[in-house]
Amino acid sequence: MTTSVSDISREKSAELFEKAKQYFPGGVNSPVRAFKSVYGTPLFIERGDKAHLWDADGNEFIDYCCSWGPLILGHNNPEIREAVQNQLGKGLSFGAPTALENELAELILNNNKKIEKIRFVSSGTEAVMSAIRLARGYTKRDKIVKFEGCYHGHSDSLLVKAGSGLVTFGETSSAGVPKAFADETIVIALNDKEALEKVFADFKDQIAAVIIEGVPANNGLLIQDKEYIKFLREITKTNGALLIFDEVITGFRLGFEGASKYYDIQPDILTYGKIIGGGMPVGAYGASKELMSCISPDGAVYQAGTLAGNPVAMAAGIAALSILAQPGFYEKLEQTTQAFVEELRSFIAERGYQIKIFTIGSIFWFAFTEQEKIQRADQIDPASMEFYKKMHRELLNRGVYFGPSGYEVGFISAAHTEEDLTQTLAKIKESLDIVFQ
Ligand code: PLP
Repeated sequence: MTTSVSDISREKSAELFEKAKQYFPGGVNSPVRAFKSVYGTPLFIERGDKAHLWDADGNEFIDYCCSWGPLILGHNNPEIREAVQNQLGKGLSFGAPTALENELAELILNNNKKIEKIRFVSSGTEAVMSAIRLARGYTKRDKIVKFEGCYHGHSDSLLVKAGSGLVTFGETSSAGVPKAFADETIVIALNDKEALEKVFADFKDQIAAVIIEGVPANNGLLIQDKEYIKFLREITKTNGALLIFDEVITGFRLGFEGASKYYDIQPDILTYGKIIGGGMPVGAYGASKELMSCISPDGAVYQAGTLAGNPVAMAAGIAALSILAQPGFYEKLEQTTQAFVEELRSFIAERGYQIKIFTIGSIFWFAFTEQEKIQRADQIDPASMEFYKKMHRELLNRGVYFGPSGYEVGFISAAHTEEDLTQTLAKIKESLDIVFQ
């Protein structure tokens, strides 16, 4: 019988956390990092290399959080590091155009035919916030429709029934969002055609845009049917509303054209973040030339940023995307992920454990459920998170780092070696044996 291994030492991390609590709300600069949904205090990370992380106490982990998605090439990638180092000697920020911005834009636009023009910002939140403004400016309508459980960053219009850390904290909204803002955001369930029809009937000619995550991945992994997404495309078009595909997670993760390619649709506005900056703070939004001509200084929709198109971040993005653009990159990563997931599925089936692994591309999610499909936020039983919590502890104690919430997905990077994956599989199996004993 498998037995629990002893808890890792967290003395230094715990000490740093006590100090951090004096400086930051909850001791962190982003809520989910506080480890509120899993056992123990947060680990303070000292360094990462390839697929491995080391914390302040010297514990080593194989990392499947990958900084919440950006690190598709793992930590400390030599090409990205060299590109950043080269740029460092030339200057950190100019607040003026650079050739690097052109270079990254060219790399993206040559490989992603879903957009004709792009604007770089500094985070996914900014990208989505700007996309919403563009949609409102273009359509001259105010209302937006979002889906329950989809997270689009922390701007006012979008913190309504969002996923990510908000689910973890048992809240579906945030204090401080004016009612007038929330009133302009209509929230409906995913995978419900009738709800979409009703909303367009009830708010005729008032809806500027419907926004959806390329593949909802902030509240579990809620993979939508292709037919439903095609319906969403059609109904928005028929009603003169724009379709915004938030590809902050899926963009450059499922390929350069992200989930739009998977669903074989053409959204009106696409938003990006995470991978696009190679680990540096970059976001972007893009659309047709016509739509993008509404953005200042060409058009009347204002959007700006002191550090937008930051040269160091652009250099990191160019280095990362140049690697991703190489033929076969995504196919190989997907095959690796599929093999990993299949091995676990066989083990789970053999043992008869009540757990499913949902996956797309190199994203995966453990759902402690008997349901064959989960496509809506309300299909997730909050009580099932207890299983994740136990698994998380067992995995950390065995040197495997998953995101500190059962609502979050895991990522496989190109830096995960066969040995990393084999070791991880053994450790997950041991952990599940303990969770279900
Ligand atoms: N949109 C999606 C789909 C996301 O997953 C996130 C962050 O996790 C955001 C937007 C916000 O991005 P950022 O955290 O870079 O502001």
